[in-house]
Amino acid sequence: MTRKRKSKRDASPLIDGIRFQCQGSGRCCMTREDYGYVYVTLHDRRRLAACLGLTTLQFTRRHTEKTDGWFHLKDPEEPCPFLEKGRCGVYCARPTQCRTWPFWPENMDPSVWRKEVAAVCPGVGKGKRYTAEEIAQILERQRDVPGHG
Ligand code: SF4
Repeated sequence: MTRKRKSKRDASPLIDGIRFQCQGSGRCCMTREDYGYVYVTLHDRRRLAACLGLTTLQFTRRHTEKTDGWFHLKDPEEPCPFLEKGRCGVYCARPTQCRTWPFWPENMDPSVWRKEVAAVCPGVGKGKRYTAEEIAQILERQRDVPGHG
């Protein structure tokens, strides 16, 4: 669930009636040109540190760097370091950004959804249909993640 480098964007219009179910492809965890940032909030760093048996400070020093004031996993030009044989190696503790994929503000524009998200993610169009209200709740959970709003 790598993300474009944080940019200031207006809130995108919500799209409704989206079907999505993760197919475990790992494709969203691969770097695609400038889509390489896995941002980690303080809450994310605490959760990941606990999962890996580290203190939050140890995790932050070992696995993150800061760009424009935002913490993200190291080496954004590479696939996520926690991707193991196409699967997330820290799935239970994965960052908020990853938990909320593909319902990101920048993906809510119907043309972005169609041309960028659906082209990469095999989970689009499968499984549960998310209502606009459910999507709004997922977007709300990203308040402290770069790129929100
Ligand atoms: S933390 Fe896990 S879900 Fe998130 S990008 Fe890395 S491998 Fe993918």
